[in-house]
Amino acid sequence: MNLFEAVKEAVPVPEAARVCGLVPNGSGMVRCPFHEDHTPSMKLYEDHYYCFGCHTHGDVVDLYARLGKLRPIEAAQVLAKLFRVEDPRPVFLRD
Ligand SMILES: [Zn+2]
Repeated sequence: MNLFEAVKEAVPVPEAARVCGLVPNGSGMVRCPFHEDHTPSMKLYEDHYYCFGCHTHGDVVDLYARLGKLRPIEAAQVLAKLFRVEDPRPVFLRD
C-alpha cells in the first residue's frame, strides 16, 4: 500500500470536502467548485465525487489537489496530516 491508497481508504470524500468549506446538503450534494454552479450538482460519495453539471469526477486525493491547486502527492500528504493517516511507506522512501 502507498500513501495514496492509505489516504483514499481512510478519508471519506465528504470529510475532505468539509475542510475545504464544501458542506454537503442532506442529499450529499454540494455546489460544484469547478464550474459556475447555481444549484448543487456535485454528489459526494464516500470514495469519489461526481458533478452532474460538468462531469468532473475523481477520488478524495484528486478533489483536494484540484481545490488546493496541488500536485496529487502534495494533496495526499496534506490529507494524511489533516486526518492523521499513517504513512504506510518505509521511512527511507518518504519525501
Ligand atoms: Zn461541475
